Amino acid sequence: MNIISMAFRVTEAVTVYTDRVRQFFYEVMLLAHACPKCGGGLNMIAEGRCRCSACARAFDPTVVFQRCSDCGGIPKIEIRRYRCSQCGSDVSSRFLFDGLVFDAVYFRARMAEHRERKSDQRARLQARLIESRSLPLDAGPADLEAVPGLVEALNSLIAGTQPGVLRLDCKGFDLSRYESHVQAHLEPYPIMFDEIPPLSDDARLDRICRFIAIIFMANAGLIEIQQEGQTIMVMHREAN
Ligand SMILES: [Zn+2]
Ligand SMILES: [Zn+2]
Repeated sequence: MNIISMAFRVTEAVTVYTDRVRQFFYEVMLLAHACPKCGGGLNMIAEGRCRCSACARAFDPTVVFQRCSDCGGIPKIEIRRYRCSQCGSDVSSRFLFDGLVFDAVYFRARMAEHRERKSDQRARLQARLIESRSLPLDAGPADLEAVPGLVEALNSLIAGTQPGVLRLDCKGFDLSRYESHVQAHLEPYPIMFDEIPPLSDDARLDRICRFIAIIFMANAGLIEIQQEGQTIMVMHREAN
């Protein structure tokens, strides 16, 4: 005996039964009413929406057939219920099986607001990230030892170029300038490290500086970097 599948069958049966009762409820409620335009019969097509079977006109039966019990005013839909458009009293609809109606216009507007707020938040967060990126790092020279494995990575980065000792003067290296430069060249999609153009004439040193910038930015959680074979991909870090 599988009690779970039995429970599912019971739920199914209840759902079918509820749907039948709902249909019956609508039939009974609409029986006494006809299309105000052509007198045709009416069928419920959604909560708070019926349609004439003759002329196909669709309308809200509560708004068309029901009146405020206090003042006789026309009900209007307000979020998930009806209110009298004259005195503001609640009008409980006779045409709603579950007692709930859906104000499509209202919810469309709320959804649009919600999306706008979300993208505002994202823009503010990005602006904050840009601010916090340059502030603490301006305080002193870049500490290359702070990033584990950086020195090894730098060695492998220039492995293909002419041999020689790399002289990296940290005091002359403007990390925040390079970081702004990298930030300015990021795209919504991942880009190749070498797509970030150089900032100085010394191509070799510039490549190192750009690389240090992305390592520091990745370390600060501002960007993500990924190595695919010989290629380094640079991308925005997902804000959320
Ligand atoms: Zn009609
Ligand atoms: Zn009223």
